[in-house]
Parts: sequence; C-alpha cells; structure tokens
Amino acid sequence: MALLRVFVRLTHGAVVAPYTAAMSYVVTENCIRCKYQDCVEVCPVDCFHEGPHMLVIDPDECIDCSLCEPECPANAIAAEDDLPAGQRHFAGLNRELAMRWPVITAQGPAPADADQWKDVPGKLQWITAAPD
Ligand code: SF4
Ligand code: SF4
Repeated sequence: MALLRVFVRLTHGAVVAPYTAAMSYVVTENCIRCKYQDCVEVCPVDCFHEGPHMLVIDPDECIDCSLCEPECPANAIAAEDDLPAGQRHFAGLNRELAMRWPVITAQGPAPADADQWKDVPGKLQWITAAPD
C-alpha cells in the first residue's frame, strides 16, 4: 500500500520532498449522526468503516487522494495535517475504530434525522458512549 501511495502522489505532482506515509484523511465530529455516506462512493481503495453513528477512515489504507473531502455534505473530512485544533483527537479515533468497525463499500441511506444533526457541536458523546 505504501508503494501505491507514493505512486499516486508522484503522478499528481504533489510530492516535493521525501514522502512520509504517516498522513491520511480523517473523519471528524461533523459526521456523527449525519453519516450521509457520499464519501464512500468516491473512495478508490475502500478505506471507510461504518459504525452506528459515523464513518471512519482506516489510515493504513488511505492513499491521500483527497477525493472524499469535497464530497462530504457535512464538511466532516480533513487531511490529518489540516485538522482543526479541537478535532485532532479524531485521527487516533479513526485508527482505533477502523479496526473494530466493518468496511463499507457502497452508499446506504442517511439517517432520517441527519439534517437535524448537521453542524451540531458536542456529538462525540454518541461515539464514546456507544462505540460499537
Ligand atoms: S459524507 Fe461526510 S457526513 Fe457523510 S458519512 Fe462521509 S464523512 Fe460522514
Ligand atoms: S483520501 Fe482518498 S483514499 Fe483516503 S479516504 Fe478519502 S477517498 Fe479514500
């Protein structure tokens, strides 16, 4: 996978310095209870995992292609290096939950009340209280 990531970066002209394989894209708090799943359809390597209230990205599978970021209606996806200060803990949370939740490869229906939860702050409790 690391070789693929280097290849994609090189062919997109994004690499100007020796590439480190540490970064990935991260799903943040805005996804919780929204889970529109538009991101799933565009991911070329199926690295989204689905929990009951949000999706997460497996950082070991993500090739940093950035295709998912503009697709998210909730603006919930960010590159790890660009995470806002209050969202940085989601990098570790994505890694942890991706190991526990199953891969999702096709977009399903969003929750009926998804729009009511969009941009609502303080939603992490829905994950920490019921992680699986
Ligand atoms: S599109 Fe955004 S809100 Fe919807 S599941 Fe993906 S990350 Fe979550
Ligand atoms: S950046 Fe690309 S590989 Fe990573 S989760 Fe988004 S669509 Fe998938």
